[in-house]
Amino acid sequence: MRILLVEDNLLLGEGLKDSLSDEGEAVDWVKTGKEALLALKSEPFDLVILDLGLPDLDGLEVLRKLRGQEASLQPNRETPVLILTARDQTADRVQGLDQGADDYLVKPFERDELLARTRALHRRATGRSQPVLDFDRLVIVPSERRITLDGNDINLSRREYAVLLALAESPGRYLSKQQISEKIYGWGEEVESNALEVHIHHLRKKLEGDYIVNRRGLGYRFAADSAKSSDGN
Ligand code: CA
Repeated sequence: MRILLVEDNLLLGEGLKDSLSDEGEAVDWVKTGKEALLALKSEPFDLVILDLGLPDLDGLEVLRKLRGQEASLQPNRETPVLILTARDQTADRVQGLDQGADDYLVKPFERDELLARTRALHRRATGRSQPVLDFDRLVIVPSERRITLDGNDINLSRREYAVLLALAESPGRYLSKQQISEKIYGWGEEVESNALEVHIHHLRKKLEGDYIVNRRGLGYRFAADSAKSSDGN
């Protein structure tokens, strides 16, 4: 998933970016409210992790604008927001949630809890309540970054995993090359022009089945065992 991290504390920001990247997430890190708004206007994110005490705008102001009517922020109006802040008063938490945040974590926090909350928020945003993506033969356990095929573990690279998850989260729906790339690469990451095709080629080999369908002009879609039979196409 593609995450916008808004945090002005350099040490914390760096640690968070590393932790999330290690989990296979694509993370774009900005350090001010204005940069956050610019980023939110430029492309769609799957999650925003938002610090409140920023050097220019207050994080709550960023949140208000994001949930407001400004057309330029439309691509991210529904994006889940996790507030991360040192403000620990109940009134602050209530205000943040009532202004459209989806979750709230008070500093200092445990890395594992933050990661679990990001997974839970993303799960809800993609319309799932089940923590495991179970496609009969193929099972994906996001909390462990684990993939099994007929009960056997499959080793995927960080990128291969990210591509598979992006597709499997919306089985049956075509995603364009650009839409997949937006979910798996952050800004400034070196991307070879055919990198995505290479990841998909490897994925197909490792999954030993026709889980990833390609159609010219539409892109790629995940064809689950169950989705195949109910597809109707
Ligand atoms: Ca801060």
